[in-house]
Amino acid sequence: MSQLDGKRVVITGGGSGIGADMAQAFAEAGADVVITGRRGGPLEEVAARHPSISYAVADVTQEDDMASLFEHLGEVDIVIANAGAAESAPLIRTELEQWQRMLEVNLTGVFLTLREGLKRLRDGGRLIAVASTAGLKGYPYVAPYCAAKHGVVGLVRALAQEVAGRDITVNALCPGFTETPLLEASVATIVAKTGQTAEQARAHLQSTNPGGRLVQPAEVTATALWLCGPHSGAIHGQAISISGGET
Ligand code: NAP
Repeated sequence: MSQLDGKRVVITGGGSGIGADMAQAFAEAGADVVITGRRGGPLEEVAARHPSISYAVADVTQEDDMASLFEHLGEVDIVIANAGAAESAPLIRTELEQWQRMLEVNLTGVFLTLREGLKRLRDGGRLIAVASTAGLKGYPYVAPYCAAKHGVVGLVRALAQEVAGRDITVNALCPGFTETPLLEASVATIVAKTGQTAEQARAHLQSTNPGGRLVQPAEVTATALWLCGPHSGAIHGQAISISGGET
């Protein structure tokens, strides 16, 4: 019997990067995995990798999307609020729309995912939010993203207090720069705005991780799997840095 046999898992933003890696690993561990995102194509591609992965198109910023997703799914065991996006600009040139976009996808999206998930979470359930080291410290040129990710850590800590004593846990994962399409988009922005080469931009981002190297999606996935394991019920309300060092 596998570790997660019979468990129903929802992963938002499962069509790429960390979410796609988690989907495969959770399915291989025996879970029945549902991935979501806005674009059907990448979701379909990830779902084709394992018979226990299915997908639904849903936007985490839309209350109706998230409510009907969980209504359709019924009871769930593990909810991973992973969807997110990172746009960069100096604060002084950050438009209100960009600020709102970053808060909506990175913070409101987590709120809606965890709220709807909690309504249908079975005993022994696990709620996980993929925050970031940007939820624990500041980074230049991404103030809205940092503010949203700090908000995610606060949301997780508050919810942990609310559900304390119940047979469920809620935690935040805080990866440093991780090799995914989101990182490649950040590299492309730096190249476009500074004239650095992609190699220079990547080396710079990598050097800001305490471990001096990029994190791999599998390292984030392994932490999520551990949180969902049989002996992790006492890990609750934590913001776990996955960055190779102290954040
Ligand atoms: P990614 O490959 O770009 O994945 C982000 C996913 O979120 C995409 O599949 C995207 O799919 C989905 N998404 C974006 N907006 C959405 C929306 N409104 N509704 C539903 N889904 C949406 O990047 P990633 O690095 O794996 O990111 C996963 C999480 O890790 C994010 O929360 C990110 O902030 C966090 N993180 C990443 C890093 C890093 O360096 N890569 C570091 C720390 C934390 P659609 O576009 O199809 O919707």
